[in-house]
Amino acid sequence: MTNGFIGGIHPDYKKTLTADKPIEKLSYEKDEIVSIPLSQHIGAPAQELVKKKEQVLCGQKIGASKGFISTNIHSSVTGEVVSIGNLNSPLTGKVKGINIKISNPEDSPKQIITGKKFQDLILEAGIVGMGGATFPTHVKLSPPKKIDTLIINGAECEPFLTCDYRQMIESTEEIIKGAKIIQDELKIEKLIIAVEDNKPEAIKAFNKYVHGFNFEVKALPTVYPQGGEKQLILSVLGRIVPEGKLPLEVGVIVHNVATCKALYDAVENGLPLTERAVTVTGAVKEPKNLLVKIGTPVSKLIDACGGYVGEPEKIVIGGPMMGFSTNTTDMPVSKATSGVIVFRKEDLPSLKMTNCIRCGRCVNACPMGLVPAIMEQFAISELYERLLDWHVLNCIECGCCSYVCPARRPLVGYFKTGKRQVMNIVKKRENK
Ligand code: SF4
Ligand code: SF4
Repeated sequence: MTNGFIGGIHPDYKKTLTADKPIEKLSYEKDEIVSIPLSQHIGAPAQELVKKKEQVLCGQKIGASKGFISTNIHSSVTGEVVSIGNLNSPLTGKVKGINIKISNPEDSPKQIITGKKFQDLILEAGIVGMGGATFPTHVKLSPPKKIDTLIINGAECEPFLTCDYRQMIESTEEIIKGAKIIQDELKIEKLIIAVEDNKPEAIKAFNKYVHGFNFEVKALPTVYPQGGEKQLILSVLGRIVPEGKLPLEVGVIVHNVATCKALYDAVENGLPLTERAVTVTGAVKEPKNLLVKIGTPVSKLIDACGGYVGEPEKIVIGGPMMGFSTNTTDMPVSKATSGVIVFRKEDLPSLKMTNCIRCGRCVNACPMGLVPAIMEQFAISELYERLLDWHVLNCIECGCCSYVCPARRPLVGYFKTGKRQVMNIVKKRENK
Protein backbone atom coordinates (compact mmCIF):
# COMPACT_ATOMS: atom_id res chain seq x y z
CA MET A 1 0.00 0.00 0.00
CA THR A 2 2.69 2.50 -1.01
CA ASN A 3 0.10 5.14 -1.92
CA GLY A 4 -1.38 5.02 1.55
CA PHE A 5 -4.38 3.26 -0.02
CA ILE A 6 -4.85 0.41 -2.47
CA GLY A 7 -5.32 1.01 -6.19
CA GLY A 8 -5.33 4.42 -7.81
CA ILE A 9 -3.88 5.57 -11.10
CA HIS A 10 -1.14 7.82 -12.47
CA PRO A 11 -2.74 9.83 -15.27
CA ASP A 12 -0.90 12.41 -17.35
CA TYR A 13 -1.35 15.37 -15.00
CA LYS A 14 -0.87 18.24 -17.48
CA LYS A 15 -0.70 20.68 -14.60
CA THR A 16 2.30 22.49 -16.09
CA LEU A 17 -0.10 24.30 -18.47
CA THR A 18 -1.21 26.55 -15.59
CA ALA A 19 0.85 25.71 -12.47
CA ASP A 20 3.04 28.79 -12.89
CA LYS A 21 0.19 31.11 -13.80
CA PRO A 22 -0.73 33.36 -10.83
CA ILE A 23 -4.45 33.77 -10.21
CA GLU A 24 -5.63 36.63 -12.41
CA LYS A 25 -8.66 38.70 -11.43
CA LEU A 26 -11.18 38.73 -14.26
CA SER A 27 -12.49 42.22 -15.09
CA TYR A 28 -16.12 43.08 -15.83
CA GLU A 29 -17.95 45.83 -17.67
CA LYS A 30 -21.17 47.74 -17.07
CA ASP A 31 -24.27 45.96 -18.45
CA GLU A 32 -22.67 42.50 -18.49
CA ILE A 33 -24.96 39.81 -17.05
CA VAL A 34 -24.10 37.33 -14.34
CA SER A 35 -26.44 34.36 -13.75
CA ILE A 36 -26.42 33.11 -10.18
CA PRO A 37 -27.84 29.61 -9.57
CA LEU A 38 -29.99 29.13 -6.46
CA SER A 39 -28.61 25.63 -6.06
CA GLN A 40 -24.83 25.48 -5.92
CA HIS A 41 -24.63 22.99 -3.09
CA ILE A 42 -25.72 19.54 -2.00
CA GLY A 43 -29.16 19.79 -0.38
CA ALA A 44 -32.21 21.99 -0.83
CA PRO A 45 -31.95 24.92 -3.28
CA ALA A 46 -32.03 28.39 -1.72
CA GLN A 47 -35.27 30.42 -1.81
CA GLU A 48 -34.96 33.59 -3.87
CA LEU A 49 -35.22 36.84 -1.91
CA VAL A 50 -35.31 39.31 -4.80
CA LYS A 51 -37.68 40.20 -7.64
CA LYS A 52 -37.29 41.29 -11.24
CA LYS A 53 -36.15 44.94 -11.57
CA GLU A 54 -34.85 45.02 -7.99
CA GLN A 55 -31.46 46.70 -7.42
CA VAL A 56 -28.96 44.51 -5.54
CA LEU A 57 -25.59 45.22 -4.00
CA CYS A 58 -22.49 43.11 -4.39
CA GLY A 59 -22.50 40.67 -1.47
CA GLN A 60 -26.23 41.05 -0.79
CA LYS A 61 -28.06 37.87 0.15
CA ILE A 62 -30.36 36.99 -2.78
CA GLY A 63 -31.18 33.39 -1.85
CA ALA A 64 -31.99 32.06 1.63
CA SER A 65 -31.03 28.63 2.90
CA LYS A 66 -34.07 26.33 2.92
CA GLY A 67 -33.53 23.54 5.44
CA PHE A 68 -30.56 22.27 7.44
CA ILE A 69 -28.68 20.92 4.41
CA SER A 70 -28.79 24.04 2.29
CA THR A 71 -27.04 27.41 2.30
CA ASN A 72 -27.36 31.07 1.36
CA ILE A 73 -26.60 32.59 -2.02
CA HIS A 74 -25.28 36.14 -2.51
CA SER A 75 -25.02 38.49 -5.44
CA SER A 76 -21.48 38.69 -6.81
CA VAL A 77 -22.17 42.08 -8.41
CA THR A 78 -24.00 45.38 -7.91
CA GLY A 79 -26.77 45.73 -10.46
CA GLU A 80 -30.38 45.09 -11.42
CA VAL A 81 -32.22 41.77 -11.41
CA VAL A 82 -33.30 41.40 -15.04
CA SER A 83 -34.94 38.00 -14.79
CA ILE A 84 -35.33 34.85 -12.74
CA GLY A 85 -35.45 31.59 -14.65
CA ASN A 86 -33.72 28.41 -15.62
CA LEU A 87 -29.96 28.30 -16.16
CA ASN A 88 -27.84 25.55 -17.66
CA SER A 89 -26.12 23.38 -15.07
CA PRO A 90 -23.42 20.74 -15.69
CA LEU A 91 -24.79 18.60 -12.90
CA THR A 92 -28.57 18.71 -13.25
CA GLY A 93 -29.15 20.06 -16.75
CA LYS A 94 -31.23 23.01 -15.57
CA VAL A 95 -31.29 24.97 -12.33
CA LYS A 96 -33.26 28.00 -11.19
CA GLY A 97 -31.20 31.17 -11.00
CA ILE A 98 -31.13 34.96 -10.93
CA ASN A 99 -29.83 37.05 -13.85
CA ILE A 100 -28.30 40.37 -12.79
CA LYS A 101 -27.14 43.20 -15.06
CA ILE A 102 -24.01 44.85 -13.66
CA SER A 103 -24.29 48.58 -12.92
CA ASN A 104 -21.02 49.16 -11.11
CA PRO A 105 -18.36 46.67 -12.21
CA GLU A 106 -15.80 47.94 -9.68
CA ASP A 107 -17.95 47.07 -6.65
CA SER A 108 -16.74 44.32 -4.33
CA PRO A 109 -18.63 42.98 -1.30
CA LYS A 110 -18.32 45.14 1.81
CA GLN A 111 -18.14 43.65 5.26
CA ILE A 112 -21.73 42.50 5.68
CA ILE A 113 -21.63 39.59 8.12
CA THR A 114 -20.96 40.35 11.77
CA GLY A 115 -21.77 39.27 15.29
CA LYS A 116 -22.94 35.72 14.70
CA LYS A 117 -22.12 32.40 16.30
CA PHE A 118 -19.45 30.53 14.29
CA GLN A 119 -21.63 27.99 12.47
CA ASP A 120 -24.37 30.61 11.85
CA LEU A 121 -21.80 32.95 10.36
CA ILE A 122 -20.56 30.24 7.99
CA LEU A 123 -24.16 29.56 6.93
CA GLU A 124 -24.77 33.28 6.54
CA ALA A 125 -21.70 33.56 4.30
CA GLY A 126 -22.94 30.70 2.08
CA ILE A 127 -19.75 28.65 2.33
CA VAL A 128 -19.66 25.17 0.82
CA GLY A 129 -16.92 22.59 0.22
CA MET A 130 -15.03 24.12 -2.69
CA GLY A 131 -13.11 21.00 -3.71
CA GLY A 132 -16.13 19.99 -5.78
CA ALA A 133 -18.35 18.28 -3.20
CA THR A 134 -20.23 21.52 -2.32
CA PHE A 135 -21.52 20.12 0.97
CA PRO A 136 -22.66 23.08 3.11
CA THR A 137 -19.72 23.85 5.39
CA HIS A 138 -21.77 24.89 8.45
CA VAL A 139 -23.23 21.36 8.54
CA LYS A 140 -19.79 19.76 8.39
CA LEU A 141 -18.72 22.11 11.18
CA SER A 142 -21.48 20.81 13.47
CA PRO A 143 -20.20 17.26 14.14
CA PRO A 144 -22.33 15.26 16.59
CA LYS A 145 -19.24 13.61 18.09
CA LYS A 146 -15.72 14.45 19.21
CA ILE A 147 -13.25 15.16 16.41
CA ASP A 148 -9.55 14.74 17.19
CA THR A 149 -7.99 15.56 13.82
CA LEU A 150 -8.66 18.22 11.21
CA ILE A 151 -7.13 17.42 7.81
CA ILE A 152 -6.84 20.22 5.29
CA ASN A 153 -7.01 18.77 1.80
CA GLY A 154 -4.39 20.26 -0.48
CA ALA A 155 -4.01 17.14 -2.61
CA GLU A 156 -5.66 18.56 -5.75
CA CYS A 157 -5.16 15.14 -7.34
CA GLU A 158 -7.33 15.76 -10.43
CA PRO A 159 -5.24 16.24 -13.59
CA PHE A 160 -5.13 19.74 -15.17
CA LEU A 161 -6.40 21.63 -12.10
CA THR A 162 -4.07 24.09 -10.39
CA CYS A 163 -6.40 26.64 -8.77
CA ASP A 164 -5.93 25.08 -5.31
CA TYR A 165 -2.18 24.93 -5.87
CA ARG A 166 -2.04 28.62 -6.71
CA GLN A 167 -4.12 29.48 -3.65
CA MET A 168 -1.79 27.40 -1.48
CA ILE A 169 1.19 29.50 -2.56
CA GLU A 170 -0.60 32.84 -2.95
CA SER A 171 -2.88 32.75 0.12
CA THR A 172 -0.92 30.42 2.40
CA GLU A 173 -1.46 32.39 5.60
CA GLU A 174 -5.20 32.90 5.04
CA ILE A 175 -5.67 29.16 4.46
CA ILE A 176 -3.77 28.33 7.65
CA LYS A 177 -5.70 30.96 9.63
CA GLY A 178 -8.99 29.56 8.27
CA ALA A 179 -7.93 26.08 9.37
CA LYS A 180 -6.88 27.37 12.81
CA ILE A 181 -10.30 29.03 13.22
CA ILE A 182 -11.97 25.63 12.63
CA GLN A 183 -9.51 23.90 14.95
CA ASP A 184 -10.10 26.44 17.76
CA GLU A 185 -13.88 26.59 17.39
CA LEU A 186 -14.29 22.80 17.39
CA LYS A 187 -11.49 22.23 19.94
CA ILE A 188 -9.70 19.77 17.66
CA GLU A 189 -6.37 18.52 18.98
CA LYS A 190 -4.48 18.07 15.76
CA LEU A 191 -4.27 19.98 12.48
CA ILE A 192 -2.62 18.38 9.45
CA ILE A 193 -2.30 20.00 6.03
CA ALA A 194 -1.91 17.26 3.41
CA VAL A 195 -0.39 18.05 0.01
CA GLU A 196 0.66 15.73 -2.82
CA ASP A 197 4.40 15.65 -3.36
CA ASN A 198 4.10 16.98 -6.93
CA LYS A 199 3.53 20.42 -5.33
CA PRO A 200 6.84 21.11 -3.54
CA GLU A 201 6.29 24.89 -3.62
CA ALA A 202 3.03 24.53 -1.72
CA ILE A 203 4.67 22.23 0.82
CA LYS A 204 7.49 24.76 1.25
CA ALA A 205 5.00 27.62 1.65
CA PHE A 206 3.09 25.84 4.44
CA ASN A 207 6.28 24.70 6.15
CA LYS A 208 7.28 28.33 6.71
CA TYR A 209 4.34 28.74 9.08
CA VAL A 210 4.54 25.41 10.94
CA HIS A 211 6.14 26.72 14.13
CA GLY A 212 4.18 29.95 14.38
CA PHE A 213 0.83 28.19 14.00
CA ASN A 214 1.52 24.70 15.37
CA PHE A 215 0.36 22.25 12.72
CA GLU A 216 1.84 19.45 10.64
CA VAL A 217 2.42 19.37 6.89
CA LYS A 218 2.17 15.94 5.34
CA ALA A 219 3.56 15.32 1.84
CA LEU A 220 1.65 12.48 0.19
CA PRO A 221 2.54 10.33 -2.83
CA THR A 222 1.12 11.69 -6.07
CA VAL A 223 -1.58 9.27 -7.11
CA TYR A 224 -5.19 9.79 -8.13
CA PRO A 225 -7.54 9.87 -6.09
CA GLN A 226 -5.29 10.84 -3.17
CA GLY A 227 -7.66 13.75 -2.43
CA GLY A 228 -10.72 11.52 -1.94
CA GLU A 229 -11.73 11.91 1.72
CA LYS A 230 -11.50 8.22 2.53
CA GLN A 231 -8.16 7.81 0.71
CA LEU A 232 -6.76 10.92 2.39
CA ILE A 233 -7.72 9.77 5.88
CA LEU A 234 -6.18 6.36 5.23
CA SER A 235 -2.97 7.89 3.81
CA VAL A 236 -2.58 10.50 6.55
CA LEU A 237 -3.79 8.64 9.63
CA GLY A 238 -4.12 4.98 8.64
CA ARG A 239 -7.80 5.09 9.68
CA ILE A 240 -10.50 3.36 7.63
CA VAL A 241 -13.85 5.11 7.34
CA PRO A 242 -16.48 2.33 7.51
CA GLU A 243 -18.78 1.75 4.53
CA GLY A 244 -21.64 4.24 4.41
CA LYS A 245 -20.14 6.35 7.20
CA LEU A 246 -18.64 9.84 7.31
CA PRO A 247 -15.07 10.75 8.36
CA LEU A 248 -16.39 11.95 11.74
CA GLU A 249 -17.00 8.28 12.54
CA VAL A 250 -13.22 7.94 12.90
CA GLY A 251 -12.78 11.31 14.64
CA VAL A 252 -11.81 13.30 11.54
CA ILE A 253 -13.10 16.16 9.46
CA VAL A 254 -11.59 17.14 6.14
CA HIS A 255 -11.79 20.58 4.54
CA ASN A 256 -10.42 21.75 1.22
CA VAL A 257 -7.82 24.55 1.12
CA ALA A 258 -10.09 26.92 -0.84
CA THR A 259 -12.88 26.35 1.70
CA CYS A 260 -10.47 27.42 4.46
CA LYS A 261 -9.66 30.61 2.57
CA ALA A 262 -13.40 31.36 2.11
CA LEU A 263 -14.01 30.64 5.79
CA TYR A 264 -11.19 33.00 6.79
CA ASP A 265 -12.68 35.74 4.58
CA ALA A 266 -16.06 35.25 6.25
CA VAL A 267 -14.87 35.13 9.86
CA GLU A 268 -12.09 37.74 9.70
CA ASN A 269 -13.47 40.07 7.04
CA GLY A 270 -17.23 39.44 7.17
CA LEU A 271 -17.34 38.51 3.48
CA PRO A 272 -19.82 36.14 1.83
CA LEU A 273 -18.70 33.67 -0.82
CA THR A 274 -19.13 35.51 -4.13
CA GLU A 275 -16.06 34.53 -6.14
CA ARG A 276 -13.71 31.62 -6.67
CA ALA A 277 -10.52 30.62 -8.46
CA VAL A 278 -11.02 28.54 -11.62
CA THR A 279 -8.43 26.80 -13.80
CA VAL A 280 -9.24 27.32 -17.48
CA THR A 281 -7.09 25.01 -19.54
CA GLY A 282 -6.74 22.43 -22.30
CA ALA A 283 -7.28 23.60 -25.87
CA VAL A 284 -7.44 27.36 -25.17
CA LYS A 285 -4.87 29.83 -26.48
CA GLU A 286 -3.60 30.91 -23.07
CA PRO A 287 -4.50 28.57 -20.19
CA LYS A 288 -4.96 30.52 -16.93
CA ASN A 289 -6.06 30.49 -13.33
CA LEU A 290 -8.77 33.12 -12.99
CA LEU A 291 -10.50 34.72 -10.02
CA VAL A 292 -14.10 34.81 -11.16
CA LYS A 293 -17.37 36.18 -9.81
CA ILE A 294 -19.94 33.44 -9.19
CA GLY A 295 -22.43 33.57 -12.06
CA THR A 296 -19.93 34.53 -14.77
CA PRO A 297 -20.67 32.72 -18.05
CA VAL A 298 -18.12 30.03 -18.94
CA SER A 299 -17.89 31.65 -22.41
CA LYS A 300 -16.32 34.74 -20.77
CA LEU A 301 -13.63 32.57 -19.18
CA ILE A 302 -12.82 31.01 -22.55
CA ASP A 303 -12.59 34.49 -24.11
CA ALA A 304 -10.30 35.64 -21.28
CA CYS A 305 -7.96 32.81 -22.29
CA GLY A 306 -7.84 33.95 -25.93
CA GLY A 307 -10.47 31.51 -27.22
CA TYR A 308 -10.13 27.95 -28.45
CA VAL A 309 -7.23 26.26 -30.14
CA GLY A 310 -8.79 24.21 -32.92
CA GLU A 311 -12.30 22.80 -32.75
CA PRO A 312 -13.63 22.03 -29.26
CA GLU A 313 -15.13 18.54 -28.97
CA LYS A 314 -15.86 18.37 -25.26
CA ILE A 315 -15.81 20.85 -22.38
CA VAL A 316 -15.47 19.53 -18.85
CA ILE A 317 -16.59 21.54 -15.85
CA GLY A 318 -14.45 20.49 -12.88
CA GLY A 319 -11.62 17.96 -13.17
CA PRO A 320 -11.38 15.51 -16.07
CA MET A 321 -11.90 12.48 -13.79
CA MET A 322 -14.89 13.57 -11.71
CA GLY A 323 -16.13 16.64 -13.56
CA PHE A 324 -19.14 16.94 -15.86
CA SER A 325 -19.08 17.12 -19.64
CA THR A 326 -21.04 19.77 -21.44
CA ASN A 327 -21.33 20.99 -25.00
CA THR A 328 -22.27 24.55 -24.13
CA THR A 329 -20.41 27.51 -22.62
CA ASP A 330 -23.73 29.22 -21.88
CA MET A 331 -23.46 28.14 -18.28
CA PRO A 332 -22.51 30.10 -15.16
CA VAL A 333 -19.56 29.48 -12.86
CA SER A 334 -20.83 28.21 -9.52
CA LYS A 335 -19.19 27.65 -6.13
CA ALA A 336 -18.33 24.14 -7.40
CA THR A 337 -16.52 25.19 -10.58
CA SER A 338 -12.86 24.35 -10.02
CA GLY A 339 -12.01 24.00 -13.69
CA VAL A 340 -13.07 24.50 -17.29
CA ILE A 341 -11.17 22.11 -19.55
CA VAL A 342 -11.47 22.12 -23.32
CA PHE A 343 -10.72 18.98 -25.31
CA ARG A 344 -10.41 18.61 -29.07
CA LYS A 345 -11.22 15.34 -30.80
CA GLU A 346 -7.51 14.49 -31.02
CA ASP A 347 -7.09 15.00 -27.24
CA LEU A 348 -9.66 12.33 -26.41
CA PRO A 349 -9.08 8.57 -26.32
CA SER A 350 -11.07 6.35 -28.66
CA LEU A 351 -14.38 5.56 -27.01
CA LYS A 352 -15.10 2.44 -29.07
CA MET A 353 -16.51 0.03 -26.53
CA THR A 354 -15.82 -3.69 -26.79
CA ASN A 355 -16.64 -6.67 -24.59
CA CYS A 356 -14.96 -7.06 -21.21
CA ILE A 357 -11.83 -9.16 -21.62
CA ARG A 358 -11.63 -10.06 -17.91
CA CYS A 359 -8.22 -8.45 -17.57
CA GLY A 360 -8.83 -7.30 -14.00
CA ARG A 361 -7.26 -3.88 -14.45
CA CYS A 362 -10.37 -2.19 -13.06
CA VAL A 363 -10.09 -4.29 -9.91
CA ASN A 364 -6.45 -3.35 -9.41
CA ALA A 365 -7.19 0.35 -9.98
CA CYS A 366 -10.21 0.65 -7.66
CA PRO A 367 -9.16 2.59 -4.54
CA MET A 368 -12.17 1.22 -2.65
CA GLY A 369 -11.32 -2.44 -3.19
CA LEU A 370 -14.39 -3.06 -5.37
CA VAL A 371 -14.82 -5.40 -8.34
CA PRO A 372 -16.08 -3.09 -11.10
CA ALA A 373 -16.21 -5.78 -13.84
CA ILE A 374 -18.73 -7.84 -11.82
CA MET A 375 -20.64 -4.80 -10.58
CA GLU A 376 -21.08 -3.66 -14.15
CA GLN A 377 -22.89 -6.90 -15.01
CA PHE A 378 -25.36 -6.41 -12.16
CA ALA A 379 -25.89 -2.76 -13.12
CA ILE A 380 -26.59 -3.65 -16.77
CA SER A 381 -28.97 -6.43 -15.70
CA GLU A 382 -30.63 -4.04 -13.21
CA LEU A 383 -29.95 -6.52 -10.42
CA TYR A 384 -29.73 -3.76 -7.83
CA GLU A 385 -29.96 -6.03 -4.77
CA ARG A 386 -26.82 -7.80 -6.03
CA LEU A 387 -25.18 -4.47 -6.74
CA LEU A 388 -25.84 -3.53 -3.13
CA ASP A 389 -24.29 -6.82 -1.98
CA TRP A 390 -21.18 -5.97 -4.04
CA HIS A 391 -20.86 -2.68 -2.11
CA VAL A 392 -21.67 -0.22 -4.88
CA LEU A 393 -22.48 2.34 -2.20
CA ASN A 394 -18.79 2.37 -1.36
CA CYS A 395 -18.00 3.56 -4.89
CA ILE A 396 -16.64 7.10 -4.74
CA GLU A 397 -17.20 7.64 -8.48
CA CYS A 398 -13.51 8.39 -9.01
CA GLY A 399 -13.48 6.94 -12.53
CA CYS A 400 -10.23 4.95 -12.09
CA CYS A 401 -11.92 1.78 -13.37
CA SER A 402 -13.18 3.44 -16.55
CA TYR A 403 -9.81 5.13 -17.07
CA VAL A 404 -7.83 1.88 -17.11
CA CYS A 405 -10.35 -0.30 -18.94
CA PRO A 406 -8.91 -1.39 -22.32
CA ALA A 407 -12.42 -2.33 -23.48
CA ARG A 408 -13.57 1.28 -22.80
CA ARG A 409 -16.45 0.10 -20.64
CA PRO A 410 -18.25 3.15 -19.16
CA LEU A 411 -18.10 1.58 -15.70
CA VAL A 412 -18.40 4.65 -13.49
CA GLY A 413 -21.46 5.80 -15.46
CA TYR A 414 -23.23 2.53 -14.61
CA PHE A 415 -22.34 2.91 -10.94
CA LYS A 416 -23.56 6.50 -10.70
CA THR A 417 -26.97 5.43 -12.02
CA GLY A 418 -26.91 2.15 -10.10
CA LYS A 419 -26.20 3.89 -6.80
CA ARG A 420 -29.36 5.96 -7.10
CA GLN A 421 -31.44 2.77 -7.57
CA VAL A 422 -29.64 1.03 -4.70
CA MET A 423 -30.28 4.01 -2.41
CA ASN A 424 -34.01 3.59 -3.09
CA ILE A 425 -33.77 -0.04 -1.97
CA VAL A 426 -31.93 0.98 1.20
CA LYS A 427 -34.49 3.69 1.98
CA LYS A 428 -37.37 1.23 1.48
CA ARG A 429 -35.70 -1.24 3.85
CA GLU A 430 -35.21 1.49 6.47
CA ASN A 431 -38.87 2.55 6.24
CA LYS A 432 -40.18 -0.99 6.78
S1 SF4 B 1 -15.51 4.60 -9.84
FE1 SF4 B 1 -16.11 3.31 -8.12
S2 SF4 B 1 -15.77 1.22 -8.82
FE2 SF4 B 1 -14.67 2.57 -10.22
S3 SF4 B 1 -12.62 2.67 -9.38
FE3 SF4 B 1 -13.71 4.40 -8.50
S4 SF4 B 1 -14.52 3.61 -6.56
FE4 SF4 B 1 -13.91 1.83 -7.77
S1 SF4 C 1 -10.78 -3.34 -16.99
FE1 SF4 C 1 -12.47 -3.48 -18.46
S2 SF4 C 1 -11.97 -5.26 -19.70
FE2 SF4 C 1 -10.69 -5.40 -17.88
S3 SF4 C 1 -11.90 -6.63 -16.42
FE3 SF4 C 1 -12.41 -4.52 -16.02
S4 SF4 C 1 -14.24 -4.13 -17.23
FE4 SF4 C 1 -13.30 -5.98 -18.07
